[in-house]
Amino acid sequence: MKAQPRASHYVNGRFVEDERGAPLEVVYPATGETIARLNAATPNIVELAVEAARAAQGEWARMRPAERGRILRRAADMLRTRNDELARLETLDTGKPIQETAVADPASAAEALEFFGGAVAAFHGDFVDFGGGPFGYTRREPLGVCVGIGAWNYPIQGAGWKSAPALAMGNAMVFKPSENTPLSALALAEIYTEAGLPDGLFNVVQGFGDVGAALTAHPHVAKVSLTGSVPTGRKVLAQAGAQMKHATMELGGKSPLIVFDDADVENAVGGAMLANFYSTGQVCSNGTRVFVQEGIYDRFLDRLTQRTARIRIGDPLDPATQMGPLINKAQHDKVTAYIDIGRREGATLHHGGGVPQLQGFEGGFFVEPTIFTGVEDDMRIAREEIFGPVMSVLSFRGEDEAVARANDTEFGLSAGVFSRDLSRAHRVVAEIKAGSCWINHYNLAPAELPFGGYKQSGIGRENSLAALAHYSQLKSVYVETGDVVSPY
Ligand code: NAD
Repeated sequence: MKAQPRASHYVNGRFVEDERGAPLEVVYPATGETIARLNAATPNIVELAVEAARAAQGEWARMRPAERGRILRRAADMLRTRNDELARLETLDTGKPIQETAVADPASAAEALEFFGGAVAAFHGDFVDFGGGPFGYTRREPLGVCVGIGAWNYPIQGAGWKSAPALAMGNAMVFKPSENTPLSALALAEIYTEAGLPDGLFNVVQGFGDVGAALTAHPHVAKVSLTGSVPTGRKVLAQAGAQMKHATMELGGKSPLIVFDDADVENAVGGAMLANFYSTGQVCSNGTRVFVQEGIYDRFLDRLTQRTARIRIGDPLDPATQMGPLINKAQHDKVTAYIDIGRREGATLHHGGGVPQLQGFEGGFFVEPTIFTGVEDDMRIAREEIFGPVMSVLSFRGEDEAVARANDTEFGLSAGVFSRDLSRAHRVVAEIKAGSCWINHYNLAPAELPFGGYKQSGIGRENSLAALAHYSQLKSVYVETGDVVSPY
């Protein structure tokens, strides 16, 4: 199985290579097989990409927003037309089952391009009346060259979520995918070019953290948007802050999902499974602390166990497969180590916890969907982000207790509430310190709704008009219509 792109990077509308860059091997996580060999960007490639972006941005920014949007919407249509081919590429890159990538990944990127391609024409400055003649107005102006740095779990979605608002707003972007999943951003770059995006506006450079750091530090870069872990976010934000650059940080979480006694059990179980097992648990917003009220606890756990036991794990390219492998060996080691930690801390390994033996996939990074019960709030498995299919089920008595325990975390990305009592659901969500919350569902992220975290989970928002604000700066203009009154 090969997925070798024409070259490692995409700069100024063309594939480019610099073989002096550090080797970057792309591995299919289901088998451990190498499917592509790339090179990380050298300083020369970084320079070419930033320069190409800078050169193209001015004219792009002067174009009518609706015209910029039309190009994005054309690219959205092309993403949809090529959905199957892109879903397969994403499955090879990430190991996520084709069942997921066929509906979630290129589709979500397309949704972002379509949304921002339309919304930007209606995203204006304000008119301010000072009474009797003078007035003011504000202009939403682009920032210039923006850098996007992606995580491995949603590669094409991440590239789409960052580039669409940046480009719609009149910026240029240099995007660095995760070193684990470098392929689909290159496909997006080609699509943008085919859709009519002028050269230099969307560039892809590959590399590890040092390339991300070189881009963040580049004096001609005005903004950086990172999706990644909290420790990386701290470094990138500090580096951006040292040069007073704009920054959006989409970081990790350890989110709570609260199930009240009156919840619909099947929906709550479905929500908890989506919140822990989708993408083999490698989702930043996952609700990994599932708080279940005492009265529904046994019924919830029974159905959760039955439905989890039926999850089909295996060949990601088989449309019947529901769970694929983790991204790589390091992540596999980390997740299995956390399962050991949970056991040693005294939690009960209620389900899973093993490494499945799958014929033909012996070199893959699979782990079973895992449920711990008897979890205490201060255990490491209840406090630290595992980023794998490991669910902690905890029980609670009352609403105030649930809210206090849900908020007792350094993170604040997401939260979920399952209850038929909607007054209570709204009341609880209002008390939760998290940026993206769901009532009676989990992990949906439509383009129209802001997405992002409180506390250590980040700064800024992706999606919605809020993202356009984060990819622009505000200019205020005072206009006098009378004489200048001056004491001099
Ligand atoms: P990571 O922090 O290891 O890497 C993220 C990206 O940052 C990669 O492209 C990496 O090369 C780059 N990077 C690393 N060091 C850098 C530096 N010093 N300067 C600039 N760039 C640098 O994260 P990961 O392991 O790829 O992804 C998993 C993490 O991402 C999890 O914590 C997860 O919760 C988080 N995540 C958050 C969201 C969100 O929207 N909030 C979405 C997906 C993933």
